[in-house]
Parts: sequence; C-alpha cells; structure tokens
Amino acid sequence: MAYQVLARKYRPQKFADVAGQDHVTRTLVNALEQGRIAHGYIFSGHRGIGKTTIARILAMALNCRTAVGDEKRPTQEPCGVCDSCTEIRAGNSIDVLEIDAATNRGIDEVRELREAARYRPARDKYKIWILDEAHQITDAAFNALLKTLEEPPDHVVFMMATTQPEDIPQTIRSRCQHFSFHAVKYDDILAQLKSIAAQEAIDAEDAALALLAEAGDGSMRDALSIMDQAIASAPVVAGKPHLESEQIRELMGSVPNTVFERLMEQISAGQTAAVVEELNTLLNAGNSPSALARQFVRYLRNALMARVGGENTDLLQISADERARAARSAMLFSEEDLTRFLQVMLRTFDDLNYRQEQRFHLELGLVKLVHLQRLLPIEEILSGSQGTAPGTGLRAPGSGQGSGGLGSGLGARAAGPVTQVPVAGQVRAAAPARPSPFEADRDRKTVGEGGAGSEPAARGLSPAESVARAAVESKASYSSMAAEAKPPVAVGVAEPLGESTEGALALAAAAEGAPDLDRIREAVCGALASAGHETAANLIHQGNWAEQGNAIQVELAVRKTMLALTVNAEAEAICRKTMKAMGATQKIAFVPGENGANGGKAGPGSGAPVVIAGSAQSAAMENPLVKKTKELFNADIRSVLDLRDKN
Ligand SMILES: [Zn+2]
Repeated sequence: MAYQVLARKYRPQKFADVAGQDHVTRTLVNALEQGRIAHGYIFSGHRGIGKTTIARILAMALNCRTAVGDEKRPTQEPCGVCDSCTEIRAGNSIDVLEIDAATNRGIDEVRELREAARYRPARDKYKIWILDEAHQITDAAFNALLKTLEEPPDHVVFMMATTQPEDIPQTIRSRCQHFSFHAVKYDDILAQLKSIAAQEAIDAEDAALALLAEAGDGSMRDALSIMDQAIASAPVVAGKPHLESEQIRELMGSVPNTVFERLMEQISAGQTAAVVEELNTLLNAGNSPSALARQFVRYLRNALMARVGGENTDLLQISADERARAARSAMLFSEEDLTRFLQVMLRTFDDLNYRQEQRFHLELGLVKLVHLQRLLPIEEILSGSQGTAPGTGLRAPGSGQGSGGLGSGLGARAAGPVTQVPVAGQVRAAAPARPSPFEADRDRKTVGEGGAGSEPAARGLSPAESVARAAVESKASYSSMAAEAKPPVAVGVAEPLGESTEGALALAAAAEGAPDLDRIREAVCGALASAGHETAANLIHQGNWAEQGNAIQVELAVRKTMLALTVNAEAEAICRKTMKAMGATQKIAFVPGENGANGGKAGPGSGAPVVIAGSAQSAAMENPLVKKTKELFNADIRSVLDLRDKN
C-alpha cells in the first residue's frame, strides 16, 4: 500500500476522535440527534485544526446508510463501514462534493452548483457541498450562491471551511450556522502524537514529541507534517525509527531554548560582550539570523505571557519545562521591559526579512535590549520609587518584594508599574541581582567621595533630586542623614492624610511617660527602612516634625501626589503599628511641604508630567536638541536618565 502521510492516515472518522474542538462536535451531535439540520454551515479557524475533517464527518453522519441504533451505528456518529461512509472517506461519493473554492471561485462554477442543487441526490439523503477556502469565492459567485441559500431545497447542505470568515458576505453568513474552531491545545496535540508514535512503532523521546507539538503551534496538521519529515530523516535503531530532540531541532533549524534563557540572563546582567559572543557562536554554528530572531521573538512572547499571567496560564501552549524556563526568564525583568524587548525584537525580525547584513541587524537588536532596560520611567525616578510607584498597589502581599529593598537593582526595577506574578515568588528570590544604573552611579560616587552617601541637600540638589537620591541611598546612608537632620519646625494647618483610625482611637490614653518626637521618629523610620520603605523612611526622617496636641504632623518635602506614592497606605500602617508598639498614643499625619502644597494643582489624572526646576527632567527639557526633537517628531519625553557626574 502506498505511503500515506500521517495527517491523512490518522484523520479522525468520528466526532469523538476530533481533538480540541469539543464545543463544535458536541453541538453538531446534539443537532443531529434532534434532527435540526441547517442548510449552511461555516467552519472557521486556523489551518490544520480540523475544519474539513469535521465537515466530512458531518457529511458522513448525514448520509450514513446505517440507521441510528444499529449495532454498527449506536449513536449519531457515522458507522464508517456502509457504502456512503466509505465513499465519502475515499472522496468519491456522488452526493458529497468537495470543492476547492480557491480554484473554483467564479460565477460559472457556482451557477453549475446551483443547477445541480435543484436535482435530488442520486442515492443518499442529502446533496452536500463542502467548499474549502470559501473566502476565496468571488462576490458575484457568492450572490449566485445566496439565491440557493435563501430558498434551499430540503436535500441541500452547504459546508464552508475558511480561515477568514470575515471575508464571507454578511448575507451568506446570516443564513448559515457559524462554528469557530479553536487552536488545538498543546496537550491535545502531544497526546495525539504519542498515540500515533505508538501505533506506528516509532521510538520517540518525550522531549522530541514535545518539540513537535510545540512546532505545531495549535495546528494538528502542521505538527503531523513535521513528524512525517522527522520520521523520514530519523535514524533506524533496532528496526524502529528513533526520534530525538536534537535531530528535530536540526530539521526545524532551531536551537535549544537554553540559549535564549542564557541570553536573557546576560541581558539582565548588562553583559553586552557576552550577548554578542553568544550570538556569534550561534551564527558560526550555521544558524540563520532570521530563524534565531523568530525563535527569540517567540521566547520573549512566552516570557511576557508568563510575567503577565503566571507560569500556568493558558496563554502558554508549551511543555512544563518550557513554562518553567519562560517564568525564570520573565522574573528577571518587569512587564514593561519585556514589552519593549518584544517590540524591539519583532521590529528586528521584520528588518531581517528585507535587509542586507542580517547579522548586523540581529546584533543591533540584541545590544538594544541590553541598553533598553537602563531606561527608567521618570515617574519612578521622581517618586524615588521602591515599591511605591503607581500600580504597585496591585502587588501580591507577601511576595517578598520589601525585603529585597534597593540593595538589588532587580528589586528596584521590578517594583515599577508592574503587577507581580504570584507564582514566581521563589524564582524571584533566587534570581541573580543586577546592579541598577542608580546603584552603579552610587557606587561610583561613594568611591569618589570616600564615604557613604552624604546629605543630598548639602550637595545643592533640588528636593526632587533629593528624593530620587534618597531612593538609592542605602540604609547606612540613612543613619548618616539622621545625624544631620534638621530640627523640627512647626507648620500651619494642613489636611491630614490617610485613614489613621487606629491612632485616633488611642488618643485618649496620652500619658506623661509617652515617648518624645525624636524617639518616635527614630523608631518609625527604623521600622520603615527595615520593611523596605527606605524612601519613605528617608523622607520622613528629613521631614519637619511638629506636635499639635495629641497629633503629630510631619511635613515632607514633596508634593501631595508624590507623598501619596511614597508614604503609601502600607508605610502609614507601619508607622502606626510602630507607634502603638512603643506606647505612643498620638495620631500621626503626613502632609506635603509648602513647595508641594502650591504645586499640587497638577494633581493625579491631569496627566501633565511633573517637572521640577533643576531636576534632570527639566534640564533635559531645556536642552535645545531635545526641544528640536520634540518639535520635529511631535514627541513626548517619557524617561530621562541622569548620567551627569555630579562630582
Ligand atoms: Zn455509514
């Protein structure tokens, strides 16, 4: 017998055997049971996921000559053995016509079809047309078809399979039942491949089948086609074809994903040289730049999905090992980073297709990734973010973020406007720390100044820069700042911030032995710093502390919006808890400084970027080149990275 490709040999002959389209098969079987047969069906979805297969099974079920209830046909499933069933399977039934609409798309063909539809079926119950690639039919031909669909003879059924249902005119669609097919799930494809390997007596490594299933990318037929090729090129061991992952990768021109995991680690560590060398090794081994780029795009996409939806999201149709790998890589970066990476690599991949010097483009793309993550959103810099940037309220509690503190650049970056992925808690803790540009900057300065960071204000920095600086000062610098802290100054009335019920309730119990302001300040700031709220600790420590009756008001050198971000609800709770623990009964309120009170007009939601005089942001805005660029490209400045040497 002639060799038959796997996709045909193992084409399902029953609804129950179709993988991954339960929603379609269930409905069709129910309809058959109730005898509710439509005259037009549209089966839409990607290639190779079972559209024509289901159309044929439906045709067999409709025209099967064995009555339902017969032992050969206990249910609505076709019997598979009667004349009609065997003819349809072989593709030579008189009453079931399969037409490739890609080649028979004109009005003449459809007129012919219309003529034929007027006559009764030759032998079976229905005259059935299966129109493959139905979206290719011309408008005129669709109009001719519409006439038949408007008043269809009882014995006529049209089934249209298409990858582009939106190209079928609405008038036709509204007269048909439309079934939208799903991409076949990775697990379903893998199960089918395993079953076929067993039936074909193929000795296949699990990893090899997993690769084939992934390569199918939702299409059973694609996976089976690659499997055909793989079997053809496989070495025969002990009389059986032997499939192993290395051979399949070679066949598909892909590299193991460990390569991309390593690249991501190098990118995260800012090791440009290592990234370029890694790429060089890959290219020298004969891998094509565009295949590498395509695979890397896919890898980044999976990492982004893992970052957004967690390791076990349905968006990842890959093996468990690969899920874990994607999650590991994802945890090295923020969602924002990964989004930018994917964007850059998609563009690089596009570029590769029509440019000379593919190699240079790919190198450039990868080097860009290393540099991309050096960009920090301006909000993060201004708010001295460290788990306090907008959006971090969504952070899963107990994710261990706080303990990381600013000591690790990873912690600082990951605390950006990103929702944390809860599943990755452990991975994140184990992830290698990467020095942030801030940290590198600080280290450099520390060496230059011959000591731990000093009072930022003493260096003539603006308040905003102080905040930004404060964010990167370590705990050591926090204590040195404490020594230089200004004495508390009383301030006027300002609205208290936040819900401080706990403190309010304890008011009545104010006693003589209550701790003084200095002690409270030390305790509160200490608690905040050790809970990872170093920015808040620094800010509060430098603030103007004033006692007004049974309330403590701390004026901080920030605007109202920034204050809410820095001394957030969590930080406030820590303050109250600490005070309660040390027996302080005062109520505490944090208020924005004068500078902030006036400038607070551009409140949240106004969308106007906060520009503080003397800051890196304002300096950048003043730069004539930047001004010109803004004008030329009608651009907005999103991030400003301060690389000035402040010594
Ligand atoms: Zn039959």
